Amino acid sequence: MTHQAPALTPEQKKELNEIALQIVSPGKGILAADESVGSMSKRLTQIGVENTEENRRLYRQILMTADDRVKNYIGGIIFFHETLYQNADDGTPFINIVKEKNILAGIKVDKGVVPLAGTNGETTTQGLDGLAERCAQYKKDGADFAKWRCVLKISATTPSALAVMENANVLARYASICQQNGIVPIVEPEILPDGDHDLKRCQYVTEKVLGAVYKALSDHHIYLEGTLLKPNMVTPGHSCPTKYSPEEIATATVTALRRTVPPAVPGITFLSGGQSEEEATINLNAINKCPLPKPWALTFSYGRALQASALNAWRGEKENMQAAQDEFMKRAEVNSLASLGQYEPSSDSEGAASQSLYIENHAY
Ligand code: 13P
Repeated sequence: MTHQAPALTPEQKKELNEIALQIVSPGKGILAADESVGSMSKRLTQIGVENTEENRRLYRQILMTADDRVKNYIGGIIFFHETLYQNADDGTPFINIVKEKNILAGIKVDKGVVPLAGTNGETTTQGLDGLAERCAQYKKDGADFAKWRCVLKISATTPSALAVMENANVLARYASICQQNGIVPIVEPEILPDGDHDLKRCQYVTEKVLGAVYKALSDHHIYLEGTLLKPNMVTPGHSCPTKYSPEEIATATVTALRRTVPPAVPGITFLSGGQSEEEATINLNAINKCPLPKPWALTFSYGRALQASALNAWRGEKENMQAAQDEFMKRAEVNSLASLGQYEPSSDSEGAASQSLYIENHAY
């Protein structure tokens, strides 16, 4: 190995690094609003709303038109393809509304999980075909970052070496294609919370998976300063009988990240993974308070944990729009504080925000 042909020009690198840094600037995280039509069907059915394109637009409008305070809490919003091209009631494209608030637009570019034949129910993620062309078009249409979700499962026999290697490699190919097109890739190897495994086992698997991901990113010449990582927090399995404190979860999470994620990565934006809204906030706060050195921004990229109360407040009724927006703003604000390690739980953190958002074998 004598030299590396340059994959990106200095200008391309500078742009990618600036985008990544802007998304995770202090006190900011990401709103994941990129649920596929199928996932939206589950969310809307729960509140008795029909899953039509118009109802999806009306719901997303609540999130996209939240008032200016949102600027301080949200650095990026991940869109689903359909939403990127939708408008608010007054005809303004959603993407213009959020960009005016200095919030960057991201786009989900994977096409969902497919089985890895011969494994115990494991998957890889598809969507590489035509990805370069789609990224080039999304960039023209105003997107600056992308998301691709891979899924790994913990059981006695999984994740297999094949699933770890295949998912790491497909994430690296995706990241490479994004960077060539001026798009910051969010690399998401989600380890599902399904199972009765303990905290130690989740930490062990997280370290092995992230180790493989960063080896693959290196092999594919990925410019780490122009990427973000979206991992699970290290938590016990959903049906683990042992309970752990937020401090134990934080120590396990930060330890796993310190062992595997290079300091060149600007930010780590956790998924909420079925934790209740309040749990996701408290754990993020504990992670930021953890005394171990942390060379990256540690913030949120939550779907369910930013939206559950807002969806419940809305229930498809126009007159509930403001109440739904208030709920969203409340979650955005507390998670912003948690990303700075400054969240103080209050007595009204009981109730809806404490309800589990766990979904078995969660798809997106
Ligand atoms: P949750 O926060 O609901 O886990 O979803 C985040 C996400 O974008 C998963 O890909």
